[in-house]
Amino acid sequence: MIELTDVTKVYPGGVHALAGVTLSIRTGELTAVVGPSGSGKSTMLHILGTLDRPTAGRVVIDGHDVSLLSDRQLSALRARRIGFVFQQFHLAGGAPALDNVADGLLYAGVRRADRRRRARSVLEWVGLGHRLDHEPHELSGGERQRVAIARAVVGDPALLLADEPTGNLDSAAGEGVIDVLRALRSAGTTVVVITHDRDLAASLDRQVQMCDGRVIADHVSARHDPEVNR
Ligand code: ADP
Repeated sequence: MIELTDVTKVYPGGVHALAGVTLSIRTGELTAVVGPSGSGKSTMLHILGTLDRPTAGRVVIDGHDVSLLSDRQLSALRARRIGFVFQQFHLAGGAPALDNVADGLLYAGVRRADRRRRARSVLEWVGLGHRLDHEPHELSGGERQRVAIARAVVGDPALLLADEPTGNLDSAAGEGVIDVLRALRSAGTTVVVITHDRDLAASLDRQVQMCDGRVIADHVSARHDPEVNR
């Protein structure tokens, strides 16, 4: 699903946010990216999400060499194949959960009635079938994040990228969010999660540890390693 080869990212001013990252992630893996603040995690997530291009190196996402795609083609890849979840939820205030999720299909050429039908079904899937008409301010943090995940996956992306999705949640609500990410992985979605939470990271299939723009450790939990389980 993801192939990074010797990827660097140098920001104006000379900051080497990524200093040669080589990493491959298989379809259906649930990977945690960990590391101290400033180690390049967000930069890597932006590059995985085709929100940014590398300074050098090769990036292949879902079979597409990003350097060969125009900005318009990249946007199309992003819209059809990649979902994003952020620490701050980024829901539309004043709009019910159902509309927030249905709007995730606005640019997918899906009719309004179908958008709403699919939104309802995904909200039920994340356990919020009883909260369809609630606006974000009427929801708990954990519920808001599950709405945000529902919106990110209503278009059935192959890849879901989450930046500190449990960062604003207490541990019980965080567990609920992680359960949803696990269920997505079981349904075949590739999921990459940036997190500061060591327990959370340890509970996922794989932990990629960053420091100073490099991958310094890459651990696959034995119980999740398809080579071991075969
Ligand atoms: P992390 O997500 O691990 O905290 P980042 O990827 O956000 O790390 O940042 C890596 C490094 O790149 C940091 O030194 C940060 O200050 C720098 N950086 C991030 N974004 C920019 C930017 N837009 N312009 C300049 N430097 C940046």
